[in-house]
Amino acid sequence: MHSRLQPLIKGVLRRGARHLGSKPLVMRNTAPLVSFTFDDVPDSAYTNGAAILEQHGVRGTFYVASGICGSRDTHWRLIDPAQIRALHDAGHEIGCHTFSHVGVEDLDARQMAEECTQNQRRLLELCPGIALTNFCYPFGRASLPRKLQLQKRFDSCRGIYEGINAGVADLGMLRMIALYDRTLTSEKLRRALRETRERNGWLIFATHDVADPPSWIGCAPRLLRETVAAVLAENMPCLPIRDALAALGYRRPH
Ligand SMILES: [Zn+2]
Repeated sequence: MHSRLQPLIKGVLRRGARHLGSKPLVMRNTAPLVSFTFDDVPDSAYTNGAAILEQHGVRGTFYVASGICGSRDTHWRLIDPAQIRALHDAGHEIGCHTFSHVGVEDLDARQMAEECTQNQRRLLELCPGIALTNFCYPFGRASLPRKLQLQKRFDSCRGIYEGINAGVADLGMLRMIALYDRTLTSEKLRRALRETRERNGWLIFATHDVADPPSWIGCAPRLLRETVAAVLAENMPCLPIRDALAALGYRRPH
């Protein structure tokens, strides 16, 4: 009985995280904003992704799970400690993606806190003075209790639900547009930019690797280059999440 109920409860809590318990921010940006974010951080997101952003004078947010950095996955090798430090030194934002890249809905409150503290501790060793103020849910999954816990600890948490953040943003579940070769057509990019401008919104792109060929959840260098160019042609500021929050008028509660 207990085991049959568990998936049901999980589903209810996951839907709760999507629709309930928001952390609302009335957006006060004076211009539409764009952010480029990278999850897990395959080394190609460093060698190609960060390089392309920097060529355009743009900085991004890289959500790191430092417990698995340097390891090899099916699709890629993850960035190593030296590359994390280089990203930080170049002015990119390092965000929290848990320590061991674990689905947060499987954790209790104490384990969740420990995952974040461990990641912060490890990244502090690498980058003295670093503050991890923004979070991204591994696998995009959350439960309502963990969302409430994380949105209190961090300024923002990004999910994988598609959309433009506009009007009142939910800082506990920021929306995004996937920057994948598989899904981001030029028509979809045009529509997303139009909506961002019309609603004075905040468009957050999310991807993983930046490789040729990319994985099914990544993009080729060419698509990233074209997307950055399209955004800059619209004169939309491209900011890491922490700086976009400041531009939205977010103030951390004391
Ligand atoms: Zn991830």
